[in-house]
Amino acid sequence: MGCAQVVQVPAAPTAKQAAALTACLDDHRQLYNAALEHRRTAYAKAGVSVRYGDQSAELKHIRVDDPGGQGRWSFSSQQATLRRLDKAFAAFFRRVKAGRTPGFPRFKGRGWFDTVEWPKDGDGCRWDSQPGHPSATFVRLQGIGHVRVHQHRPVKGWVKTIAVKREGSRWYVVLSCDHVPTETLTATGAVAGIDLGVAALVTTSGGEHVANPRHLVASADRLAAAQRALARKKRGSERRRKAVSRVAALHAKVRRQRLDSAHKAALALVRAYDLIAHEDLRITNMTRSASGIVEAPGRNVAAKSGLNRGILDAGWGVFLTILAHKAESAGRELIAVNPAGTSRTCSRCGHCAKENRVSQAEFRCQGCGHAAHADVNAAINILRAGLALRRAAGAA
Ligand SMILES: [Zn+2]
Repeated sequence: MGCAQVVQVPAAPTAKQAAALTACLDDHRQLYNAALEHRRTAYAKAGVSVRYGDQSAELKHIRVDDPGGQGRWSFSSQQATLRRLDKAFAAFFRRVKAGRTPGFPRFKGRGWFDTVEWPKDGDGCRWDSQPGHPSATFVRLQGIGHVRVHQHRPVKGWVKTIAVKREGSRWYVVLSCDHVPTETLTATGAVAGIDLGVAALVTTSGGEHVANPRHLVASADRLAAAQRALARKKRGSERRRKAVSRVAALHAKVRRQRLDSAHKAALALVRAYDLIAHEDLRITNMTRSASGIVEAPGRNVAAKSGLNRGILDAGWGVFLTILAHKAESAGRELIAVNPAGTSRTCSRCGHCAKENRVSQAEFRCQGCGHAAHADVNAAINILRAGLALRRAAGAA
């Protein structure tokens, strides 16, 4: 038994390997574009859909004709690239069928094709290719060699697929693993509700605040500023090109920092609680944009700009996904509840009124006078709703 997990590890290719990786990405990109051209032409001229099977068969000839180019790389990674195009077309036709008018799948320009996947460990790639090495871990990639990776924690389970990803000037190896052993933690007897916010990523019903780390808030600020600067640049200008790459680099940085802080926060929660109730984000996002809890953003740094706020909000989905993975592998219970009213209802007497919410941070019940931190009050309501759901499920 075990579950699936995706692990991303930084890679440290030599200069020669980095050049080979760049060539590998570019050849896969050109393959993608050539296959797309083939499909477009066939569709436009004859109304014919070219299938993945046809293109995969043709790939054999392409490789034979170009041994120093396309022939260098793994047949399987090239097939994975053709399948990626196939998926783009399948999605396109699904949308057409649904009566919408989607854009045709697009050609990938330089810088817009940053991932190559090897669909099976051992086929054109090998994770941990030098297991005897005393201190370093390597991954072998066909046509590139043994690339060193920085593995912070040992990879568990069976490595199923291996991908290489480029982010700006950095390289990563992304592994999807199966049968990752579940580490069931011993029961703590404690339960918690959590409220997701901007100033604090997580607030628990017990009154703990897990803040968005300062460096993440600072990067989100810089990203928001860079996006505003980009909007002012003239199309096609050199300044705009620079601004685009700055936004991309900051995006990547925010993503890394967010993942890191989400991992830490989720781990702490899963260790401490047997059951965690959280808001159902699909509902939260709808109600927040409609009724506007966002309308009174308060004066703290994190909430000062709508754009920055949006960047930090976007971390909730990532956090809950990571929390779900960790809860599953630790045998903890996670319950999603409808967040309606949780921020306006008094956790002591149940009185529900908009006026209870004095400010972003302050809750004061107009019925019983109960005063609390608004997020803690919400987290208690979320926990209560979660426990009620669980009792209902148990009774059914
Ligand atoms: Zn009250």
